[in-house]
Amino acid sequence: MDTRLFAIQSVSDIAQEYQNTPIQTLIEYHNFAKEFDDYTAAKLLIGTCMDNRISLRFPDNFSFVIRSGGASMKHHEFHISYALAVANIGHIALITHTKCGMVAVPDQQDSFVSGLVRTAGWQKVVAEQYYASAVVDNAISHEIDFTLHQTRHLRGKFPEITIAPLLYDVDDHLLYGICE
Ligand SMILES: [Zn+2]
Repeated sequence: MDTRLFAIQSVSDIAQEYQNTPIQTLIEYHNFAKEFDDYTAAKLLIGTCMDNRISLRFPDNFSFVIRSGGASMKHHEFHISYALAVANIGHIALITHTKCGMVAVPDQQDSFVSGLVRTAGWQKVVAEQYYASAVVDNAISHEIDFTLHQTRHLRGKFPEITIAPLLYDVDDHLLYGICE
């Protein structure tokens, strides 16, 4: 496991700046099976990957969720802005995960192209062109590096918002902290 990751087994494992915030509450719901509270308004924005193995545990109405390949928020800054501006969200959890397909996709041209031909009815040449034009923008270099980079970027863009980078392990289904 990456040395920057740390397990969160009790509230004291949560970084000080996220304690007593909706980020702590998310971790309590997910990692500690905290009993659900009732919400009439969202408290948090979660940005995470589209991956089917990610299943976060939290109650109705608690959080906005933006899901995108690689947990990349680069094409979602308007949606983030909306949650902050219109719904008064002050906290964001950016949740990357282990075994993310968007890390491997630069090595998967053949299966990407042949898969689009097979499942979506694309012509091979069109699929090749699409892959070539879009892979660099959509692949991520490394889950943790990318999430830390994105965290810094969003903190620069939204300086009053608390943004926590976290990792979801698709094998044990727990959230981990990331040392910055
Ligand atoms: Zn992913």
